[in-house]
Amino acid sequence: MSQAVEVTAIDEQPRKEKTNLLGLSASRIGDFLESLGEKRFRGTQILKWIHQQGVTDINEMTNISKGLRASLSEVAEVILPEVVSVQDSVDGTRKWLIRMDGGSCIEMVYIPERDRGTLCVSSQIGCALDCSFCATGKQGFNRDLTAGEIIGQLWIAAESFDQFDPKTKRRVTNVVMMGMGEPLMNFDNVVDAMNLMLDDNAYGLSKRRVTLSTAGMVPEVDKLGDVSDVSLAISLHAPNDELRNELVPINRKYPLQTFVDSAKRYLDKMPDNRRKITVEYTLMDRVNDRDEHAKELSVLLRDLPCKINLIPFNPFPGSGYKTVTKVALGRFRDILHNDGYTVTVRTTRGDDIAAACGQLAGEVNDRTKRQERYKKRLDEEQVQEQVVKIIE
Ligand code: SAH
Repeated sequence: MSQAVEVTAIDEQPRKEKTNLLGLSASRIGDFLESLGEKRFRGTQILKWIHQQGVTDINEMTNISKGLRASLSEVAEVILPEVVSVQDSVDGTRKWLIRMDGGSCIEMVYIPERDRGTLCVSSQIGCALDCSFCATGKQGFNRDLTAGEIIGQLWIAAESFDQFDPKTKRRVTNVVMMGMGEPLMNFDNVVDAMNLMLDDNAYGLSKRRVTLSTAGMVPEVDKLGDVSDVSLAISLHAPNDELRNELVPINRKYPLQTFVDSAKRYLDKMPDNRRKITVEYTLMDRVNDRDEHAKELSVLLRDLPCKINLIPFNPFPGSGYKTVTKVALGRFRDILHNDGYTVTVRTTRGDDIAAACGQLAGEVNDRTKRQERYKKRLDEEQVQEQVVKIIE
């Protein structure tokens, strides 16, 4: 990859960076305008232009006076991430490769269903958590996405489905923060972006249709409950600490019971007592798919209002895991179902374009060297396989 070299002519003043309005939530855009000596309510107009009309040129925001448009353009702009490619799966799933700030790329996926359309949004470039069965983890970590880069993903999807035309039916009805990254490790930016998703002057999605998924950042779950009421999904994948320590390393810091308790506290903070936590459980053949695991999970979740979403493991090269068999999946589901749980099985979508859960890899300019180590291991394994084949 070529390296950008910054060249500044001697007599040239370094350009002052403009504020990107894309990621500013209502309160932040109000603060920004106030700091310019302008009225806060202009923020609502700007939000509508950007997120409801899809307008990114400040000069086209025609209900704002010419003078203000000119002075605003001096200090602010609307900059979107760059779409590198779009792929469509035979089942209607769409995947975008999106470049952030001229560097690394993230992936975003849209999954159409009969009664809704779900956009799976990324929160970080790569992920620092390194769950053993997740392809994103193997890419290592580069950085957090800004609020603009997060909400920019929804903007890009809306534009691609022509949603900024008021005559077009809304295709993105749900957003799940289940793409690349751990959203609660990028707390402020994710909360700002989610506020825009919920804001009636922006995308106006209902809090039940915006879901944040976390692998177990316990203090941040508590913090989230103080500032937001979006739906919460918890990635468990194991019913006891011994197994979870292995699959989801953050469990060593925040053990399973503390995680489940934090989810319970999250619900307790919601005024509406019909809300439920979604429990995600990725099933891997002979790792976490036995009857005992299902029974243990059933006991663990006894006091948590929840629905359980079983995800058959989606394989990727060198993962070392196999997906659950149909028989084991059925048994696991039945045990939980018989204990009174609502259980759904996440059907694998878009796997022909590597868009299924845990397959999102993007192009991460890794800062952790994890990608390098993983690739080396993959190469060594392949060499070993070849040696075995030659010997055989
Ligand atoms: N870091 C957050 C957001 C990622 S969400 C979290 O862990 O919740 C993506 C979901 O897909 C998580 O539940 C994750 O554990 C799951 N997943 C990851 N890799 C997978 C794979 N290879 N097959 C199936 N599910 C996977």
